[in-house]
Amino acid sequence: MLTTNDLLARNYEASQNHKPLPTFAESRSAGQGPPRIALISCCDPRVVPEEYFGLTPRDAIVFRTVAGHPQGCWKDLVALDTFIFEGFGVNGFEEVIIVHHTDCGSLMFTNDMIHQGIQKRNPESNTENIIGTEFGAVSTSIEQNVRDDLEWLKTAPLVRKELAGSARGFVYNIKTGKLHEV
Ligand SMILES: [Zn+2]
Repeated sequence: MLTTNDLLARNYEASQNHKPLPTFAESRSAGQGPPRIALISCCDPRVVPEEYFGLTPRDAIVFRTVAGHPQGCWKDLVALDTFIFEGFGVNGFEEVIIVHHTDCGSLMFTNDMIHQGIQKRNPESNTENIIGTEFGAVSTSIEQNVRDDLEWLKTAPLVRKELAGSARGFVYNIKTGKLHEV
């Protein structure tokens, strides 16, 4: 089984060829602004946005959550949208992209399963507050869930309406590597 120490050894090797990345100050003096696309994608390790969109560090800010649900990262989205506005003098993110994928683990568990598992493994603690908590299980089709997440984003209280309105949703097919828009 791979361990953290194995990863640290890999990092040492990788660092031998590391090219220094620009600081915020260096980017600013080079006339480079922050990425203006926010991408929300599943944390599944098979589905890597940097690979399926060929991203460089200047292209997009990537949030990875269970299934690619914005409910799991909306605070981070709002924080960085506001930081870009306040810190760089531009209008925050211009676009949001939500990507779910075929064969997603969120189709294979239920919120009840997670609730029961938490209670089983934490018998001593008060777990009543987990009942009613959504853990991101998807009980519809992936396509429908992308539509539901796009709708949810429009109702999220602190997300700018024009930003939520810019959102587009896709499903990534793990067999073909292709995205289709929902
Ligand atoms: Zn997934």
